[in-house]
Amino acid sequence: MEDINKAMIVNRLDAYKCPNCGKMFLTASRCPECGQRVETMAEHQSRVKERVELVRAMETVCRNINDEEVLMAWLMCGVADEDITPGTTDEYIAETYCEDEEDFAELMDTFLRCMERAAKSGGLFCGRVVSNIGKEKE
Ligand SMILES: [Zn+2]
Repeated sequence: MEDINKAMIVNRLDAYKCPNCGKMFLTASRCPECGQRVETMAEHQSRVKERVELVRAMETVCRNINDEEVLMAWLMCGVADEDITPGTTDEYIAETYCEDEEDFAELMDTFLRCMERAAKSGGLFCGRVVSNIGKEKE
């Protein structure tokens, strides 16, 4: 009986899931188990979706970095080569890059550092156009 109830709660978007201990509840603003603030599954899913979209976008932008060294830095510290392709599922990206807050923050930071470096070197290259046309290299 408990298992059936649990399965029903898991599929409900208005259910709350504790990010700390993973328990699910139908009414709560704090987890009765551990006291952690909780969000509804709908809120959780939209937050994850937002992050997944950003990871895909950052990956797309970095593919166009016009500097081998900066691109290599992204492949080492950001998203590994071929790890995300158009066929990669949102679930995989969420699990790999978005679930851990610190890892996700670090990924965004790595992206920004790569952009900073790219802006000073080769810029971005897209559709036969380079972003820093006519700009003096430092
Ligand atoms: Zn909890």
